[in-house]
Amino acid sequence: MIQFETNIETSLDHIQEIFKRQRMFFNTGATRSVQYRKTQLKKLKKALTDHEAEILAALHKDLGKPAIEAYSSELYTTLHEIDHALKNLNKWSKPKRVSTPLVHFPSKGRIYHEPYGVVTIIAPWNYPVNLLLKPAVGAMAAGNTVILKPSELAPATASVICKIVKSIFEEDFMAVVLGEVETTTALLKEKSDYIFFTGSTAIGKVIMEAASKHLTPVTLELGGKSPVIIDSNINLANAARRVIWGKTYNAGQTCVAPDYLLVHEDIKSAFIDEMRQQLRQQFGGDQQASHDYGRIVNDRHFHRIVKMITGDIVIGGAYDAADKYISTTVIDNVDMEHPAMQEEIFGPVLPILTYRNIDEAISFVNAGPKPLALYLFSRSKKIQNEVLQRTSSGGVCLNDVIVHIATSTLPFGGVGDSGLGNYHGEASFKTFSHAKSVMKRGLNIDVKVRYAPYKLRLPQL
Ligand code: NAD
Repeated sequence: MIQFETNIETSLDHIQEIFKRQRMFFNTGATRSVQYRKTQLKKLKKALTDHEAEILAALHKDLGKPAIEAYSSELYTTLHEIDHALKNLNKWSKPKRVSTPLVHFPSKGRIYHEPYGVVTIIAPWNYPVNLLLKPAVGAMAAGNTVILKPSELAPATASVICKIVKSIFEEDFMAVVLGEVETTTALLKEKSDYIFFTGSTAIGKVIMEAASKHLTPVTLELGGKSPVIIDSNINLANAARRVIWGKTYNAGQTCVAPDYLLVHEDIKSAFIDEMRQQLRQQFGGDQQASHDYGRIVNDRHFHRIVKMITGDIVIGGAYDAADKYISTTVIDNVDMEHPAMQEEIFGPVLPILTYRNIDEAISFVNAGPKPLALYLFSRSKKIQNEVLQRTSSGGVCLNDVIVHIATSTLPFGGVGDSGLGNYHGEASFKTFSHAKSVMKRGLNIDVKVRYAPYKLRLPQL
């Protein structure tokens, strides 16, 4: 059995030393070379592939993640992001020519993408590899040095990532800082040139406040309650299968998991029956015994979620504290006073509310904070357009859940309470680059109209 060293904390002196070393290294200009960036990305790819078994074991230890879930959502997606960056980096990093106005003749305009410098990436525990390293790929591709702060709530994974990073990179280029709130607070006191944070909305505010002391730009990838609107005009079995998948994947501990259902009242009971069947098909009669179902990360989150299991429970409702197991639980006839509607659920509990017409569903969504994801199941183009045009959310997936975030060509991020900025693919490269505008003028021709004494007069003066 693999042993994980999980009680390491980076000292405050060491944090300061990392910043000093990274800034010195960045100033050498080594990371400006696209070839250098590609070499580092390839090193990371090889190391992740070489340590696959250890990473999957750590994810199982921290979250009971089934291997296939862990591989697809953590490793594959990160490796794919590296490949995508390697393939496109020459194109992304080339200065972009833009047209300039005639009054500036002769001139050329170009946008250069330059790295910020020292980038700090702070990640949560629910996808502790993906949410730490995928932004890191963007930061590396853009030519920054990187300080990684994994979540202390997934300590085995943090320890493996720390070991891997140490084995391939000098701390001048990439370093891992381990520790709890006190360590992160110390990290935030130092001046980063960019901070990329993934986590809760509450801590997002703490991060933004700390960043403001140094005027450091931030990306905040936050959470919230992502609604699923289920119209009556759907394929019931396919919709139910996808919703159940999204709510059971990582035991519902996904930032874009379906948080609650808004179901058209005409099909509610048929949809509940279908979800019951789908759950049985995917996990058998005893979900706790299934190898394909994860566990709640810790006791605090376990008890927080269990408090929501109350009211008209129509599916599931079982839990086992010793095993941190909570069955997928669907609760009908929920209103806004229900505990599951008071905060982001972030677990396998699915409350159901109903609506009679799409206006009602849209008004309900718009009455709350802007969600990270919004899902609509409907065959009607008219309803799809209504929902797209009259709601605001980080992203939307029509007729499925979650999968839109695993597409490198679609920027991923929140809006309002669910976040600020976005990343993935080229969007990551842009996030971690400063767009520097450069105008180059010719020096031989000089149109003198802008110089005093001004010959042009406005007619009315
Ligand atoms: P969290 O906000 O508690 O912690 C996130 C990170 O911040 C961790 O590394 C933690 O060590 C650090 N942190 C915690 N308290 C801090 C403090 N006072 N000062 C400085 N740093 C602090 O979030 P979590 O519980 O790890 O993750 C769950 C939340 O993250 C959910 O709200 C979820 O929706 C959100 N999330 C968002 C995305 C996304 O991509 N938008 C992805 C995953 C999770």
